[in-house]
Amino acid sequence: MDTKKKDSIKLTPQRIAIIECLEGNTSHPSAAEIYSVVSEKYPTMSFATVYNTLQTLREKGRVIELSIDSGKMRFDPNTKPHHHLICVQCKNITDVHRKFALNLPEGERCDYEIIGNHVDFYGICPGCKKKK
Ligand SMILES: [Zn+2]
Ligand SMILES: [Zn+2]
Repeated sequence: MDTKKKDSIKLTPQRIAIIECLEGNTSHPSAAEIYSVVSEKYPTMSFATVYNTLQTLREKGRVIELSIDSGKMRFDPNTKPHHHLICVQCKNITDVHRKFALNLPEGERCDYEIIGNHVDFYGICPGCKKKK
């Protein structure tokens, strides 16, 4: 994430803490997980601040909101196109950086101009496999 961007959001210390928590974070944390990390440093920070900051970051295209986990929204600071590998048991989300030659046949595009795709792979992660 580029924190020096011109059109950037107003950076309060609390917002910086949230951005730092997300930077390079590949665990696709939920708002609650981000809150538990930043509230250690900023005990007075409310969950609403974390949530609202995440929404602002999303609007600015700094994070992607993932609706993979039905229980909660998960956030991804990696805004480059990539795919996900999802554990159906612990909801662990792993990035997949690979281009797939997926194509929607002409007759099924409904006149859309296709700009991309996102593939979710579901499975059981090594940690959950061990627990069995
Ligand atoms: Zn798992
Ligand atoms: Zn991701």
